[in-house]
Formats: sequence, structure tokens, C-alpha cells
Amino acid sequence: MTVSLLARLADLISPRACAVCGCRIEAPGHVICAACNMMLPRTSFAEHPYDNVMAKNLWGIVPLEKAVALMRYEHGSQACNIVYGMKYGSHPDFCYQMGRLMAMELMATDFFGDIDVLMPVPLTSKRMVVRGYNQSEEMARGIADITGLPVVTGVVRRTVFKGSQTSLNRWERQDNMEGAWELADGHKVAGKHVAIVDDVVTTGATIMACASQLIKVRNVRISVVCLGYAGKAP
Ligand SMILES: [Zn+2]
Repeated sequence: MTVSLLARLADLISPRACAVCGCRIEAPGHVICAACNMMLPRTSFAEHPYDNVMAKNLWGIVPLEKAVALMRYEHGSQACNIVYGMKYGSHPDFCYQMGRLMAMELMATDFFGDIDVLMPVPLTSKRMVVRGYNQSEEMARGIADITGLPVVTGVVRRTVFKGSQTSLNRWERQDNMEGAWELADGHKVAGKHVAIVDDVVTTGATIMACASQLIKVRNVRISVVCLGYAGKAP
């Protein structure tokens, strides 16, 4: 929250460079220029939120409802600069503004109509210290700014993994580079339809590891909203 606020203030004071092509942007509150915005490799997932290639790839041990991504994420493409800036460029403002952009486009499809809360994928505490912010949480706050939905954190936690791999489920094993997952405070989402917010979905292992903890909560429903989809095409 504080980080986003500071970033927005800085944005008002000095014009910035487009996160994709680097050209100068005069309009406050934008992180990509109009031309790059138009050229974003958008998906049409929001037209079929229950039944698109990403949703199908995520169908696993946990019943997911809807899944959408704003754009395709192809390594080496210019649009990847946005995600690079979000993750490694100390740009929480990119995350926030891309969250707003995504939400504005999704509002037209009523994607958020039956969603109760936004839940960013948590980072490990080590990663949080290095980066200083959670890119998914900043993005969720941008989505919240448009939708008015609450952002919940601290429901699922990532911990340093010490035990044997065999005690982990399939998704946790795939995501085990970062540590194990645990349900920390399920009360916040009991009986709610949760939209897990993530920056880029590739194999879906992180989403599923997160969802496999979330599903332990009573009467929870789970959907996914992410900026980029890097998984296999249909
Ligand atoms: Zn541009």
C-alpha cells in the first residue's frame, strides 16, 4: 500500500518511460504507451473463463472455476519487459498499473461479478526481503482500485522446506524450489469465492500448490487471474 502510494506520487511528479518500448509517457498513471498497449499480445481467455487453454492446464487436484490472463507471455518478446520491470526492476508501480489495466478490461466481461476477494500468491520471506514488495500483491491492489474488491493476505504462507519431498503433494513438489506451503488463516476466505492473483502462469505448479492449501478452507471457491500466460498453446 505504502509502496504503491509512493510510486503513484513519483509518477505524478516526473513523467516516465514506457515499460515496453522506453518512449516517454506524458499521461500520469500509465506505465505503457498507447502504441504498446494496443500491441499487447492479449488472450481471449476472458470470453471463455471456465474453458480456455489456461483453465484446462490448471485443472488438476483442485477444482478451479475461472481462469484468465491478460496477455500471452513469450520469452524474448517485447511485452516481457513489463514483467521484467515488475519482478526485477524495482517497479511496484508497474504491477499496480497493470493490475488496474487488467481489471478495467475484465470489468467489461463481468469476470469479477461473483468474486468476493483477491488473494495474491505469497512470496517467500527471503524473496520479499530481496525485492521489497510482492509483485502479485501490488497487482491485486491495482485490481482492487478498479473493482472495489478487498485484497486478503496471510491466508496461505510459504515456508522454508525442511522435510522430505515425499510429504508434499504433486504440485508442491514441482514448486519446491521456493519451499513448502501452508494454510495460515483460512477464516478470512471461508465461504468466499477467491481470485488468486499471480503475475505469470507457466506450468501452473505455483497456482496449484497455493490452491491445494486454500481448498482446505470451508466452502471456498477458487478462480485465477494473472497478467501473463506462458503455458502451452492449444
Ligand atoms: Zn511503448
